[in-house]
Amino acid sequence: MVGVNKWYGEFHVLRDINLKVERGEKLVICGPSGSGKSTMIRCINRLEEHQKGQIIVDGTELTNDLKKIDEIRRDVGMVFQHFNLFPHLTILENLTLAPIWVKKLPKKDAEEIAMHYLKRVKIPEQALKYPGQLSGGQQQRVAIARSLCMSPKIMLFDEPTSALDPEMVKEVLDTMVSLAEEGMTMLCVTHEMGFARQVADRVIFMDAGQIVEMNKPDAFFKNPQHERTKLFLSQIL
Ligand code: ADP
Ligand code: MG
Repeated sequence: MVGVNKWYGEFHVLRDINLKVERGEKLVICGPSGSGKSTMIRCINRLEEHQKGQIIVDGTELTNDLKKIDEIRRDVGMVFQHFNLFPHLTILENLTLAPIWVKKLPKKDAEEIAMHYLKRVKIPEQALKYPGQLSGGQQQRVAIARSLCMSPKIMLFDEPTSALDPEMVKEVLDTMVSLAEEGMTMLCVTHEMGFARQVADRVIFMDAGQIVEMNKPDAFFKNPQHERTKLFLSQIL
């Protein structure tokens, strides 16, 4: 992202965002509510449109070109706070929907891939159930598996554990840690600072639409440079 700016009407929500993420890197993004974290990562797969600056994903620049937007979306998986599974479809159907309709895979192949990733997130036995029959933590792991079925090159996480009961946070974080260990490029908006310490290459602090601070986790936590970062960390740690 180079000099990225975005407005909602008059409201300047992203201010000169400059951020280069290397392949395989894991970034954790934190900051107060309303600071623009969701907006920033949603711009990366064009769920939101930026007005100024450049966003380039794996060599392709995001413009209004629908073909390029499709290309980029295929490479970028996203997991939301609320899992956004289809309630009237089984877990297996949720996982095979995009591979069948977007990637045009035969149903049998899509199901094989889906089962592979359900095993990865450790809930293959839930394949024929409906989302409402699963716990929040299980549903979020299904949402992660659903993204992985599209073989993304980058995974975006927007507060994936903040809607979960405390006892389910760990199982989702463990899934994310194992994904990180496999070398996935990850941008995670989260306030789980244990996760940040464990896997992040860099931690970013955002406030009022700007990247205020960016550092390796050690330095970020031990020696924050900006008053706003210090204040924020004192409130959440
Ligand atoms: P965060 O994820 O850091 O909490 P967001 O990116 O969701 O922040 O929102 C940043 C700011 O933009 C907030 O002030 C929010 O109210 C505003 N905002 C978010 N989405 C919209 C929208 N669709 N229209 C207008 N304002 C929005
Ligand atoms: Mg948000």
